[in-house]
Amino acid sequence: MRRRVAILGGGMAGLAAAWRLSDPDGERPEVTVYQRGWRLGGKGASSRGPHGRIEEHGLHVWLGFYDNAFRLLRACYEQLDRPGSDPGCPIQRWRDAFVPASSVGLGRTGDAGSSFWVADFPESDRLPGGPLGTDEPTITDFLERGLALLGRFGGSLDSPPAPTPRAELTTSPTHPAQRRRRASSGTELLSGARAGLRAVSGNDAAARRTAELLELLTTMLRGTIADRLAIRGYNAIDHLDLREWLLAHGASQAALAAPIMQGHYDLSFAYEEGDPARPRFAAGLALHLTMKMFFDYKGALFWKMRAGMGDVVFAPLYQALRERGVRFRFFHRLDHLRLAPDGRSVEEVDLARQVRVRGEEYAPLIRVGGLPVFPDRPNLSQLDAGQELLRYDLESHGCTWPDAERVTLAAGRDYDALVLAVSVGMVPHTCGELLEADERWRAMVERVATVGTQAFQLWLRADERSLGWQAPAATVTGCGEPFDTFGSLSQTLAFETWPERERPLTAASFCGTMPEAAIAAAADPRDLVRSAAERFLDRRGAGLWPGAAAAGGGFRWDLLCAPGAGSVAGRERFGTQYWRANVDPSDRYVLALPGSGPFRLAADGSGLDNLYLAGDWIDNGLNAGCIESAVLGGLQAANAIVGRRADDGTSGGYRPRGALAHV
Ligand SMILES: Cc1cc2nc3c(=O)[nH]c(=O)nc-3n(C[C@H](O)[C@H](O)[C@H](O)COP(=O)(O)OP(=O)(O)OC[C@H]3O[C@@H](n4cnc5c(N)ncnc54)[C@H](O)[C@@H]3O)c2cc1C
Repeated sequence: MRRRVAILGGGMAGLAAAWRLSDPDGERPEVTVYQRGWRLGGKGASSRGPHGRIEEHGLHVWLGFYDNAFRLLRACYEQLDRPGSDPGCPIQRWRDAFVPASSVGLGRTGDAGSSFWVADFPESDRLPGGPLGTDEPTITDFLERGLALLGRFGGSLDSPPAPTPRAELTTSPTHPAQRRRRASSGTELLSGARAGLRAVSGNDAAARRTAELLELLTTMLRGTIADRLAIRGYNAIDHLDLREWLLAHGASQAALAAPIMQGHYDLSFAYEEGDPARPRFAAGLALHLTMKMFFDYKGALFWKMRAGMGDVVFAPLYQALRERGVRFRFFHRLDHLRLAPDGRSVEEVDLARQVRVRGEEYAPLIRVGGLPVFPDRPNLSQLDAGQELLRYDLESHGCTWPDAERVTLAAGRDYDALVLAVSVGMVPHTCGELLEADERWRAMVERVATVGTQAFQLWLRADERSLGWQAPAATVTGCGEPFDTFGSLSQTLAFETWPERERPLTAASFCGTMPEAAIAAAADPRDLVRSAAERFLDRRGAGLWPGAAAAGGGFRWDLLCAPGAGSVAGRERFGTQYWRANVDPSDRYVLALPGSGPFRLAADGSGLDNLYLAGDWIDNGLNAGCIESAVLGGLQAANAIVGRRADDGTSGGYRPRGALAHV
């Protein structure tokens, strides 16, 4: 008889686990995914609202080093073979689904206003997610690449070079002795470089920026050598905050406050309790991410999705997994895992069926412009419920909609193995018995912290150039609190279905953390996001888009597209756009606080015989809140169940600490 695997949670990690488990070349256990609500994707979910507009949890970009995630998605599109099976679909192949997004901006924002600097990172023909390779860059390789970059700047410290990097840096593998020679000449170069950098004029903005960049790179390389990270590994310094570590290796306060450093924290929501005054980011992980991001990207630094992440990632994955026989149980909420009397396995899983499905199985996708996508609400025609259901948020843990019935899964009858793929924020609400029984679980929940985030999206009548943005399609950090990160989503507009005469020319997304104190005090955190967004646009909107400045000051609200809401004027017009507070326990972003890494459990480290863990919150070797980490977590959980070699669940040089590292 085929083994049965129940996956609890259908975010990126749960779906990656399902993908590996249903691999036609493998053991192929029977797989069922249980997901609350009507759609997949979790923190990465997106769906279609009015005018087919794409509504996201928050801005998502994929980094050019996400090889595991891209590999999975490439295989998914290959299996779907849309040119043959769905020729009318406007996104046929994975290359139609993603576009290089190489313009990255850094803002300096203060009371006096904002200034932005945009770098265009060079692109290449390489593509992320190629076949599993053997040439994973080591820390020594990164060191060499960093030194090569510095060497290129070396001769011109008095007249700083153009700030825009001009080439993707790669080096061929070298002999260890050659590497040692390079490392020692590197130390000399670094000492000289830093002295030179301090002498660079502090008044000229471009020179200052270059000096900051090079000082940070220099310090990172010096620290890597001094702390012997090539031998000890990045996590040897994970007990420190990134800035703390850089300071210990001589970075100046100016460099530590530089926009690029700020951007690093902003992009990872790395603020303890969402407090802008408490930036905290595990140094080793942050350093590893920096090296991967700048020195190991394939094709482009960032890749953006041409439509929503729900459209180009989760809907195709759903389709491909269904083809492979994976079953989906939507509207199933996990409530409790119950331990066997001997405490060695999960004996039962308590679920709630939130609403009954009329037919055999809920079909979650609709077509918008020919593209299969998730709608922004459950499809009532398939459900045993009336309109009132739409007033409830079935994706929220606190949802008060009365459940249709209780469902119990029993070990041996309904599953042989379980994958826990709800996020760590949900663990205290669903795994009480485990927490009581196992100190390691309690420590993990205490130390692996999460943070609420807030996001809003705008659709504007003017194009980006007339708004005053000279480098369209950029992703920008340092836009000022509380929405420090901005991303152009204008590339998605072609897939939305606005009335022709009121078609927006710019789409934009903003996000940032949400302070814990504010969440606790708010009756409805969404109201808080709305008022914060309105204030932000009035105060900072014109800094980002000079063309959006109102004559009397503040933001030009009339620029917001709102078909059918012509009479709605002023700030009220914001109410026609999209905003959300990601404060549900599972929606909270998973932080990488200094010292938290050792408290993460690995995919096969639950301590129970039949429970495996998947997500960006486990120890998967890339312990960061990102899509690549979620994919790694999912693949590793599946590897642990079917006993496959772990190569393609750790490719990229990520090694979890647990037994999986040696599978
Ligand atoms: C605002 C924001 C912006 C981000 N931007 C980026 C970015 O640009 N690039 C990047 O790489 N990463 C980004 N991330 C991080 C990325 O979204 C996550 O790392 C990733 O989605 C995590 O996937 P996961 O499967 O581990 O968890 P989740 O996505 O949280 O998945 C958990 C799943 O379990 C389901 N679930 C929860 N509770 C229950 C329950 N009780 N019963 C049944 N189902 C349940 C959820 O609905 C969800 O489907 C961002 C995150 C946020 C919040």
